[in-house]
Amino acid sequence: MKRTKIVDIFAPELIGQEVSVKGWVRTRRGNKHVQFVALNDGSTIKNIQIVFDLEKFSEEDLKAITTGSSLHVKGLLVESMGKGQTCEVQANEFELYGTAPVESYPLQKKGHTLEFLREIAHLRPRTNTFGAVLRIRSALAYAIHTYFQNNGFFYLHTPLITASDCEGAGAMFQVTTLDVENPPRNEEGKVDYTQDFFGKTTALTVSGQLEGELGATALGAIYTFGPTFRAENSNTPRHLAEFWMIEPEIAFCDIVENMDLAEDFLKYCIKYALDKCRDDIEFLAQMYDNDLIARLEEVCNSEFVRLSYTEGIEILEKSGKKFEFPIYWGADLQSEHERYLVEEHFRRPVILTGYPKEIKAFYMKLNDDNKTVRAMDVLFPKIGEIIGGSEREESYDKLMKRIEEMNIPMKDMWWYLDTRRFGTVPHSGFGLGFERLCLFVTGMTNIRDVIPFPRTPGNAEF
Ligand code: ATP
Ligand code: MN
Repeated sequence: MKRTKIVDIFAPELIGQEVSVKGWVRTRRGNKHVQFVALNDGSTIKNIQIVFDLEKFSEEDLKAITTGSSLHVKGLLVESMGKGQTCEVQANEFELYGTAPVESYPLQKKGHTLEFLREIAHLRPRTNTFGAVLRIRSALAYAIHTYFQNNGFFYLHTPLITASDCEGAGAMFQVTTLDVENPPRNEEGKVDYTQDFFGKTTALTVSGQLEGELGATALGAIYTFGPTFRAENSNTPRHLAEFWMIEPEIAFCDIVENMDLAEDFLKYCIKYALDKCRDDIEFLAQMYDNDLIARLEEVCNSEFVRLSYTEGIEILEKSGKKFEFPIYWGADLQSEHERYLVEEHFRRPVILTGYPKEIKAFYMKLNDDNKTVRAMDVLFPKIGEIIGGSEREESYDKLMKRIEEMNIPMKDMWWYLDTRRFGTVPHSGFGLGFERLCLFVTGMTNIRDVIPFPRTPGNAEF
C-alpha cells in the first residue's frame, strides 16, 4: 500500500479508507484500553493521531513506541471524536523502524529553550519550531526563484572561491591546499602562493556582486542565490559566518527602479509565505510572537518610506533618544538607529538613500554633491538592514578615482573594470540576506535559529 504523507491525510475523501503512514513519534499516552500516538512526518506541522486498541495489541507490543522512535502504521482512517483533530488512524498493524531510548533521546520532553536546541542542532529539525522554520525557509527560497524567473531575470551562478579581496564587505576565509604547518617559502621568507592550487591567494566569496555585474551587462538582468562567507567576529543575533545571499543586478536600471524592485520583491516573498505557510506561521506566532501575522501583513500593505540619509540623521538627532552609539552626519548607522526610524518614528519599512561616500563601497555611484553615493538600504522592523544596494558607478574615470582615493587593491580586478571599458551602462542591484528575511517572516529573533546548521565564531560542529 502506498504511503500517505500526513500533509495529505486530512483530505475528506480519505475517510473510511485503509491508509499507510510513516513518521516519528511525538508523544504516546493513554490507558489500559487504548493508547494514542501523535505521529509527525515533517510534511506539515500537524500530527496524525494513531489509535491503538489494546484488544488488538498488548502493552508489551507498544512499549518501544516512545517519543522520537520511527514508525510505520497501517490502519483505517476515521473521523475523530477528539478535540483539535479531524481524523485519526485506527491501527491494524505497525512496524517500528527504530527506537529512541527514553534515557538518551534528547528531545524526550517538550519545551526546550532555543539556546539548548542550538547545542543539539543536529536533532532540532525534529521539533515543531524548527520544522516550521525550515519549511518556511524552503518556501521563501522557492518564492525568490519564482519572483525572478517570472520577471525576466536569469539565475547566474557566481563563484564561491575568489581571488579578489577588494569588495571590502568583510573579512575573508582563506582557501588553500598548502600545508599550513609547513608552507613553501620564497627567497624573502614569505609563503610562496605561486605553489598554491590556484597559483595565488584565494578566499571564499563575501558577495557575488562583482561577477553579477558581468552577468547583468550581458544578460540584462540576473540574480544570484548562494552561500556567502564573512569571517567577521561579530557575535550578534543578525550575523552568520556562512549565510545565503540573493543579489539581483539589472542593466539600464537607476536607483529609483532599484528601490521599486526591492520593495515589490520583498512584499511578494512575504505574501507568498503568508499564503503557503499559514499553519507554520500561525504556530510560530502562537509560540513566540503574537504580533507576527499583523506585522507581516502590515509590511505587505504599507508603502515603504523613502528617506535620505541626511534626513534620517536629522530625525535621529531630534529624537531626544539616548543611543549607545553616537549619531552625527557621517556616522555608519547601527541597528538601534535603523530600528528607531522603522519601529518608532515611521512605523513601517524605510529605504534610506544618499549615504556619505566614506562609509560605502567603492562601486556606488557618486551623486552630484560629490559627498554622497546612490546607496539604498532597506530597513525592516525587528531586523534593521535587510537589503543593501545601490546604483553602480558606470563611468570608468569616476570609478578609478574612487578606487585610488580608497586605496583599493585592484591589480586582480582588471576584469571588473572591463565592464566600464566596454559598453558600460547605468545599472543597479542589491543584496538581500536570506536569513534576515527568514528571521522577519518566522518572527525568530536569533539568526542561528533560521538556518539548519549555523556557522558562527567557534561553532562548526554540525
Ligand atoms: P550589516 O551592516 O548588517 O553587517 P552589511 O552592510 O555588512 O550588513 P552588505 O554587505 O550590505 O551587509 O550585505 C547585504 C545584505 O546581506 C545585508 O543587507 C544583510 O541582509 C546581509 N548580511 C550581511 N552580512 C551578513 C551576515 N554576516 N550574516 C547574515 N546576513 C548578512
Ligand atoms: Mn549593507
